[in-house]
Amino acid sequence: MIDSHAHIYASEFDNDRDEVVQRALAQGIDKILLPNIDLDSIEPMLKTEAAYPDVCRSMMGLHPCYVDGNVEQSLATIYSWFSKHSFIAVGEIGIDLYWDKTFRAEQEKAFITQLNWAKEMSLPVVIHTRDSIEETLKLLSQEQDGSLSGVFHCFGGSIEEAQAINDLGFHLGLGGVSTFKNGGMDLVIPALDLNYVILETDCPYLAPVPHRGKRNEPAYTQLVAQRVADLREMSLQQVDELTTHNAKTLFNL
Ligand SMILES: [Zn+2]
Repeated sequence: MIDSHAHIYASEFDNDRDEVVQRALAQGIDKILLPNIDLDSIEPMLKTEAAYPDVCRSMMGLHPCYVDGNVEQSLATIYSWFSKHSFIAVGEIGIDLYWDKTFRAEQEKAFITQLNWAKEMSLPVVIHTRDSIEETLKLLSQEQDGSLSGVFHCFGGSIEEAQAINDLGFHLGLGGVSTFKNGGMDLVIPALDLNYVILETDCPYLAPVPHRGKRNEPAYTQLVAQRVADLREMSLQQVDELTTHNAKTLFNL
């Protein structure tokens, strides 16, 4: 099983990162994919990857919440990393209009720039959206020339949104939100095309039930898989096999 989106390099894990990785391995989660956030997260992310070379693989990108007036400089630094290190994806990138709309134009520009890096380097992209699914789909469809692939991580949208994402050739990343009783995903998950579904935690955030509100960790990917299995009337093993295959193919693992 693969946790396709985990920030285990974050300081929340500084006291027990080793135990966290061991618990994941004990639950059968043998790959943990690390999305970058900003310039400060690069060093801890690469250190974590180096500490667990068989388990962790890094991505490189600038998260939309960290796009500000210095975006040109930040993007130049992030881009320079692609020639120094091997990354499995450009991520996480996207548009976030929930927290702050001040740098909306810069966010859109940074998103387009990074989509074009993905084309140039033939890498998948990991997309973060919040209150911005329409804007993100519009920009993505303008840039989609058939060569872009990737995932809308932490998907919690409608069946129609899932369809629009799949129509662009993109996957859906299901995480803790899928397990929330009031999240509405109990109606959406039964209708999804499982060939486009991968699993994630987005830890330390968004822990699945019964750990909601506490620190999340990669071992809980199993709880998301169980929720999908229950809603689809499939076995855990079937969900594991299918989503692991999808993630391996998408990220070229
Ligand atoms: Zn994330």
